[in-house]
Amino acid sequence: MDLFEYQARDLFDKHGVPVLRGIVATTPEEARQAAEDLGGGTVVVKAQVKTGGRGKAGGVKLAHSPDEAEEAARAILGMDIKGHTVHRVMIAEGAKIAEEYYFSVLLDRAERRYLAMCSVEGGMEIEQLAAERPEALAKVPVDPMVGIDEATAHTIMDEAGFSDELKPKVAAVIEKLWNVYREEDATLVEVNPLVSTEDGAVIALDGKVSLDDNARFRHPEHADLEDKSATDPLEVKAQELGLNYVKLDGQVGVIGNGAGLVMSTLDVVAYAGEEFGVQPANFLDIGGGASAEVMANGLDVILGDEQVRSVFVNVFGGITACDAVAEGIVKALDMLGEQASKPLVVRLDGNNVEEGRRILSEANHPLVTMADTMDGAAAKAAELAAK
Ligand code: GDP
Ligand code: MN
Repeated sequence: MDLFEYQARDLFDKHGVPVLRGIVATTPEEARQAAEDLGGGTVVVKAQVKTGGRGKAGGVKLAHSPDEAEEAARAILGMDIKGHTVHRVMIAEGAKIAEEYYFSVLLDRAERRYLAMCSVEGGMEIEQLAAERPEALAKVPVDPMVGIDEATAHTIMDEAGFSDELKPKVAAVIEKLWNVYREEDATLVEVNPLVSTEDGAVIALDGKVSLDDNARFRHPEHADLEDKSATDPLEVKAQELGLNYVKLDGQVGVIGNGAGLVMSTLDVVAYAGEEFGVQPANFLDIGGGASAEVMANGLDVILGDEQVRSVFVNVFGGITACDAVAEGIVKALDMLGEQASKPLVVRLDGNNVEEGRRILSEANHPLVTMADTMDGAAAKAAELAAK
């Protein structure tokens, strides 16, 4: 999960990384009030979108009074930055910047360790710097067993070329940023710019943090950081039901057991759909031991998608045999009653397939069509969706 800048700022603050005060506003009037609450002096009005390059896109503006802050917020709210609409701005205290640096630490999967990157030439041109003068961007591997301790922080400072005067100050901030990375279970912590101010302070002026979703269970407090408004409502519902669901843009709903099977099902549906001008409507993996309830929940989510015209249930019986899946489908249709209103094409194969098919034929549900092969089922589902 990627965080907004203001959320990163809060996490930095929690771990003692020096940041400036910031207040989130969703209207120009709130922005004015925030600027007043910050003392009425110079503030920076910053678009809160989960993409970089806000400065260059005009999404970061200095304002010297609450009036100007209101104006700046009016200009930035509603702006489109690389396909992201700005719904919120952060009004941050202004800093008197002396120099801008760059720091990040991320998970280097290929090397099975962490990687810290640092430069004394931070700011908005960091991508260009990395491409044109890679030697100006220090890359220091971080041993996962050690992390960024004092010694590692000083190695980073040396390789990035900080002056002796700055070294201890910046190193101390970087050690704290490492604490954010480790204790919050992040996969990325990036600060650009990390600045020194005219009065000699070192401050994280912008923050980008990605949290590791696999560690979510360790951080119930992170649930609040999720941006529900940006997520599709069906995806939110699926997540609440514990389903592995991704909304796509087509008309043929897809349910399968096992991520690999579901992905190949999307391929065959896309292929079969070409002739009928339809496409898969979603990814939904109900997993290995799918009960009737899980099947019902899955169908419920898919049928809630207005674009869906037919559903392809593709199950390969393994640990959960086909007869159990067939019973699950029958019970699920029962549980859904009137809500089950779109044709279902079911392809069962694998463990106990004959019994599974017998159960479905016997139930003789008017919405259910059985198919023997994956291709045949995909073609049938596509045809039904096109009707
Ligand atoms: P980004 O473009 O999305 O990375 O947004 P940043 O938050 O990094 O802001 C872009 C640039 O705005 C920074 O590199 C700074 O030069 C400038 N900036 C941000 N905050 C302040 C501030 O408090 N005072 C001043 N003078 N400039 C700032
Ligand atoms: Mn930045």
